[in-house]
Amino acid sequence: MAKIIDGKAVSAKVRGELCEKTVSFKEKYGYAPGLAVIIVGDDPASKIYVRNKKKACEEIGYNSFEYALPAETSEEELLNLIEKLNADDAVHGILVQSPVPRHIDEKKIQSTILPSKDVDAFHPINVGKIMIGDYDFVPCTPAGITELLDAYGIETAGKSCVVIGRSNIVGKPMAMLMLHKNCTVTICHSRTPDVGAVTREADIVIAAVGKSDFLTGDMIKEGAVVIDVGMNRNAEGKLCGDADFEACEKKASYITPVPGGVGPMTITMLMKNTLRSAELSEENK
Ligand code: NAP
Repeated sequence: MAKIIDGKAVSAKVRGELCEKTVSFKEKYGYAPGLAVIIVGDDPASKIYVRNKKKACEEIGYNSFEYALPAETSEEELLNLIEKLNADDAVHGILVQSPVPRHIDEKKIQSTILPSKDVDAFHPINVGKIMIGDYDFVPCTPAGITELLDAYGIETAGKSCVVIGRSNIVGKPMAMLMLHKNCTVTICHSRTPDVGAVTREADIVIAAVGKSDFLTGDMIKEGAVVIDVGMNRNAEGKLCGDADFEACEKKASYITPVPGGVGPMTITMLMKNTLRSAELSEENK
């Protein structure tokens, strides 16, 4: 039976550490780190994410600046707001909640945020820095996963790791981080003819597909580490991951549950990136 990787517990521990570091930061510099979150439109799921980010800021002791803009906001108006926040010394992190309405070019938004305030690490400069292994910020979900692996002392050097999914937010940066952690990395995607044949050879399987029960028990080897990034709803509307948890739990050495695994780490890593940004702004003065 696999050991359950408790994302809630690790997240709470990291947040506790961030609270302490924030107290020291405030004592030293006389102000708190600040995170600006922009939401355009009224997507219900996005509203919940934004609310949770604000709550996390309050809990840790950051200043939180929220901008709720109507769906008809023009791209120019949004870019102007980002430029204003880029120039605001009280703001250390800027995040535009995805998805944005279709008339707004998300890539343009991502590349307008100053790389030094890009706590989501989506700016092409930050993406490139991750590639060369010299980075300040890592996208929050992959960052949370490496934090979980470290928290449980899971060996990565020399291990084979398969990442299923190649999105810019999860799959690609995740694969790169595992490469930096000295894994031999393979990426599977929708055009991979036999994903199971690849995952069965892996010591670590990271599933970021977005399909419930995608990773079945017969697709992993005995003792594999299973990291389930998926956040899906099953036929009964219950939140579930990409793995068939019951089957994989029997074979894996470690497994993340959904909910309570990778999910709780994501906002915590955003908070970690925000403090890092504030520290860097002081170091670079
Ligand atoms: P995405 O952009 O839709 O990417 C999904 C990836 O899965 C794509 O690369 C796709 O391949 C691949 N895929 C689809 N069907 C496949 C198949 N049959 N075999 C192999 N690969 C297949 O999704 P995402 O943003 O990366 O998110 C993935 C999942 O993680 C979602 O459930 C999302 O909700 C969840 N998520 C969770 C968190 C968290 O905090 N826990 C954060 C972000 C995302 P192609 O590229 O070939 O299309």
